[in-house]
Amino acid sequence: MRHLLAANWKMHLYPGQARDLLYKLVKHWETYQWDTHQTIIFPPYIYLREAVELVRNSPLSIGAQNGYPGEFGAFTGEISMAQIAACGVRWVLVGHSERRQYFGEVSALLQEKLLDAQRRNLSVVYCIGETLPQRQRGETFAILRQQLVEVLSSGVDWTNLAIAYEPVWAIGTGVNATPAQAQEAHSFIRSVVAELGAPADSIPILYGGSLKPENAREIFQQPDVDGGLVGGASLDAASFIAIASALWG
Ligand code: PEP
Repeated sequence: MRHLLAANWKMHLYPGQARDLLYKLVKHWETYQWDTHQTIIFPPYIYLREAVELVRNSPLSIGAQNGYPGEFGAFTGEISMAQIAACGVRWVLVGHSERRQYFGEVSALLQEKLLDAQRRNLSVVYCIGETLPQRQRGETFAILRQQLVEVLSSGVDWTNLAIAYEPVWAIGTGVNATPAQAQEAHSFIRSVVAELGAPADSIPILYGGSLKPENAREIFQQPDVDGGLVGGASLDAASFIAIASALWG
């Protein structure tokens, strides 16, 4: 099933707020089916274990926003993919533009993270997207191709991968890609992953960037948009539920 929805809480929410929000989502997701309404919540690390317990027996799963390749080591402040997986977490984000932009994460490291995560039975949402100057210079497709080829060219388990197209200029700005811009990028991404040997029709390609209840339906109607990665609007239960309704009716 290609449809997938994800919530990236980033560095937001105090413990009580996180618990409260998750309770509300668990309650609502009781009305959804496991196989058709797959939804991933990416809370801050320190809430992961409690979140895993709270979503038990629900179609929600929990993901980590980041992870370091490997098991153990002298890497102060890092948390390994193996540790994340051992806590019952099912997913991890790799390549989010905030990691690329503020933490200098480059393709070689992202490839290491992605392959190590999959080796440890974590599924990956791999995020790609162009900046505004890159779009203005007409480089969008070249950048997307580069981000895909440099990280997904070998050893990938395509059955445990989703891709998120997140134009950097749309993240947290209130300016979303138009449905046509999203469709154009998603269809291009699908063609590139097919060239890389993926069963492209079964890879979920999510749109992310200022998704809101008001714009979600039209974006989700595009044939190559299989769901969404939601930042700001996922911090409010009613908004996230409205976006889920836009995806699933
Ligand atoms: C994101 O962080 O992945 C994101 C899409 O954020 P926002 O929805 O706030 O633009």
